[in-house]
Amino acid sequence: MVTRLRLLDDAAWVSVNDRREVGASEVWPVAGGFCSCAVAWVVAEAFVDVGVDGRRVEARARGHCVECGAAGTTPWVAVGRVTDAGFEPTTGLRRSRQRSPVSGRRGDS
Ligand SMILES: [Zn+2]
Repeated sequence: MVTRLRLLDDAAWVSVNDRREVGASEVWPVAGGFCSCAVAWVVAEAFVDVGVDGRRVEARARGHCVECGAAGTTPWVAVGRVTDAGFEPTTGLRRSRQRSPVSGRRGDS
């Protein structure tokens, strides 16, 4: 299986097999090294590089940490994987910028 990766729209999107799958402006957890935070929550502004390692799709992005404001380029971060069914984004990337309480409670009283 061949995985085609491209950056589109001034590197705002990662295209996997000609579909826009991962967009900038998402918030990614980056462990260690990006800034002085234990885990940096980085708002991606643009992708710098994208690659595939087996089935795992990884990207590096330019962005800044929402906690301390440090800016820079992330190390390689897994953004998803390619399965037989298609691309599967890594879960946990899309943290809301607000510290909102757990959503998903159904049935308001
Ligand atoms: Zn930080």
